[in-house]
Amino acid sequence: MKMLNQVKITFASRSVNEGFARAALAAFLVQLDPTVPQLADLKTAVSEAVTNCIVHAYPDGIGPVTLTAALYEGGVVRITVTDRGVGITDVDKAMQPMYTTGDPEERAGLGFAVMQSFMDKVRVSSRPGRGTRVTLTKRLDARR
Ligand code: ATP
Ligand code: MG
Repeated sequence: MKMLNQVKITFASRSVNEGFARAALAAFLVQLDPTVPQLADLKTAVSEAVTNCIVHAYPDGIGPVTLTAALYEGGVVRITVTDRGVGITDVDKAMQPMYTTGDPEERAGLGFAVMQSFMDKVRVSSRPGRGTRVTLTKRLDARR
């Protein structure tokens, strides 16, 4: 699969940057001329991945979050969201709907489920103490 374009941005894990990440992604994807629903799906998935870095990755402070987005031939978009935080011990368990280690008053444990429903493929690789990378892939159907 031939890569056509790519962007990489690193920002601090502050909640104000969740909106920045969504806007930056949208600005990059304009070249694909996506439909409004396609764009909304991608922004929602990325927002869940970035929010997880902000909320879970650095429990004792603030750290770096790196967002990459790449376009491939055939309208395939691949996005990665990477942190250097605490990591996830059991990824399969963490991805189960309604599993959360957060405050149950605030968190539903549905972030990964949302990512999976809006993307074709969600891959999570994580090492405890080293960090987490979420890879989100979706092929955008051409406008008819
Ligand atoms: P919600 O997304 O509904 O607010 P949540 O964030 O707890 O709740 P998920 O997004 O599905 O739910 O994540 C499930 C769990 O996986 C989290 O509670 C957390 O334990 C772990 N997790 C997810 N992302 C990270 C990350 N980047 N670093 C460390 N742990 C993470
Ligand atoms: Mg979440």
